[in-house]
Amino acid sequence: MDQLHIRGRVPGLGKVVPDSELRGLDSVEDRDVELWIADGVVVEGPLPDAVTVADGGWIVPGLVDAHNHVGIAPGMGVTIEQARAFAAADARAGALLIREVGSPVDTHPLDGDPGGPVLVRAGRHIARRKRYLRDYGVELEHPDALAAEVRTQARAGDGWVKLVGDWIDRDIGDLAPLWTDDQLVAAVAAAHDEGARITAHIFGTDALHGAIAAGVDCIEHGTGLTDDLIEQLATKRIALVPTMIQVENFPSIAEGADRFPTYAAHMRALHAGAPAVFAAAVEAGVQVFAGTDAGGFVEHGRIVDEVAALAGLGWGATGALAAATVAARRWLSAGRCEVGDRADLLVLAADPRIDIAALRAPVAVVCGGVVL
Ligand SMILES: [Zn+2]
Repeated sequence: MDQLHIRGRVPGLGKVVPDSELRGLDSVEDRDVELWIADGVVVEGPLPDAVTVADGGWIVPGLVDAHNHVGIAPGMGVTIEQARAFAAADARAGALLIREVGSPVDTHPLDGDPGGPVLVRAGRHIARRKRYLRDYGVELEHPDALAAEVRTQARAGDGWVKLVGDWIDRDIGDLAPLWTDDQLVAAVAAAHDEGARITAHIFGTDALHGAIAAGVDCIEHGTGLTDDLIEQLATKRIALVPTMIQVENFPSIAEGADRFPTYAAHMRALHAGAPAVFAAAVEAGVQVFAGTDAGGFVEHGRIVDEVAALAGLGWGATGALAAATVAARRWLSAGRCEVGDRADLLVLAADPRIDIAALRAPVAVVCGGVVL
């Protein structure tokens, strides 16, 4: 593996990280940095044999895709080689840390691939029979088995567990919660007892009450959030990964559900309300992170589309950049290119705070010390 040398400017993102936790490429104000990389990690320099990858330009930590499914593709049956190709596509687009929130395939064989992104996994989705996309997750016959399954998936993952919180109930013809409040309380307790965090896929409003009251750590999608629930996310420090480019697919999901007109209308209404809901969450100070939901309807390699969408939520490109870099990395306890950290970074030709599109054509993507 080559020894690398990179010099450039780090964009200040304001007080995204508390002063006591500032490290690596975290930066309140703009500053110049010089990085030396050996064996895939940032080291003290200088290294006389290092190859200079970039001298000048803007340096940001590798992007974080906080909602991605490397092991899922339309039609299912993803092999580990396909999963490896999806991970590579995401990494080339700049997503060098992926929170994989549910995969039918165990993607652990990808760990340690040179030039592969870091994966933080949630095991398999936990759903009920006929209450989620078939074969994606574990489909429980008896919902009281939820807490026990949470323990199983916590042990299969890397610190996260993922529940399907609501889905269409075909008997009702609308979105409906999968679990009772008591089942959710037991699930959260089981996850935390295993040392894992727990997140819930939720589109509508009904399922949010129980999940937030139970104290889940994160909500995926969250299109049904109300002002009151947003306030609770902010005070309880529950994160939100809105998957904005996935929500763009809600009208086509509704289109395909004409046998369930109430559900279809509900999905259209959630789609229409989503930009205001997500902007209100940002305004209220909820921790919001970038996640593409790549794997099902969304192609891999689209992290920058999600970051660009987030930039429209009132905090601008600077807020969106933090949500996809230092803030998300701190949330996931991941490195930010301090000495000793994995070398995951992007070098950009222009300041991404002025034009977020600078992320689309990096001068260099350095993934685990490999220039992609
Ligand atoms: Zn998803």
